[in-house]
Amino acid sequence: MRDFSSDHRWLSINTATVRRSRGVDLPLTEIIEACARRGIRAISPWRDQVAAAGLDTIAGRLKANGLALSGYCRGGMFPVTDEAGRRAARDDNRRAVDEACELGAPCLVLVVGALPGALAGKAAHKDMALARAQVRDGIADLLDYARSMGMPLAIEPLHPMYAADRACINTLEQALDLCDELNPQPRGADAGRAALGVAVDVYHVWWDPKLKAQIERAGARRLLAFHVCDWLTPTTDLLNDRGMMGDGVIDIPRIRGWVEAQGFDGYSEVEIFSARNWWQRDHRQVLDTCIERHRVAV
Ligand code: ZN
Repeated sequence: MRDFSSDHRWLSINTATVRRSRGVDLPLTEIIEACARRGIRAISPWRDQVAAAGLDTIAGRLKANGLALSGYCRGGMFPVTDEAGRRAARDDNRRAVDEACELGAPCLVLVVGALPGALAGKAAHKDMALARAQVRDGIADLLDYARSMGMPLAIEPLHPMYAADRACINTLEQALDLCDELNPQPRGADAGRAALGVAVDVYHVWWDPKLKAQIERAGARRLLAFHVCDWLTPTTDLLNDRGMMGDGVIDIPRIRGWVEAQGFDGYSEVEIFSARNWWQRDHRQVLDTCIERHRVAV
């Protein structure tokens, strides 16, 4: 397992972590500069932040600052209620792949969606099997396109508390079942990365009794991204109360050890949504804290 105690070259910042500074939206261009100034070598930006600044602008700033991406957030949201919705989701996901390519991302992260309409407060139906079937078909279709572009897709299983509105894939086992179905492993093939794999976010999967076994099942080829933050007790908001590493109950080094035992050698990406705490602080303080905690709690 890599020793992170004396440097932070394997730290990446998911830009949602500093999307606000002192409660005010922070442009992605400023986030890039603040990261580069601290010797942070990678980020994982969100599409809305990229769109606000302009794709070309961001591609240029990344290059000028020598920053890599550890992922691109995000594609997905496959379940829909009609054919027009399916086409819109397909087109939007293809654009996400194009943007990921343009920015040089190592993978496009997929938050797959769940019951259509639930995120807006009114689910169109209660058929989880249908939602999962649409997720399967949506990923199968996108995978063809992503493969043609050479962009790996990383399914991110979300904690079951998001099963209704954000993702009906809630365990690593579920995600890997889909990977094996849609992108079977060629036996004895090269050690490169699979076209379809997973993003392991400790916030979503830390509680899973099968976690270690499923990480071993994934292996290096399917482990495309590793996200860290912490689970606070109590958690006061289902979406925007994630903790800084070391402030909660997740044994992050243990999980990182399992991931790295498989040969994962990528970034540990800090992804914190924190409306009342970290987003209220100055982003420079938040980044400095991420660096410090990366060394002692990741
Ligand atoms: Zn994540």
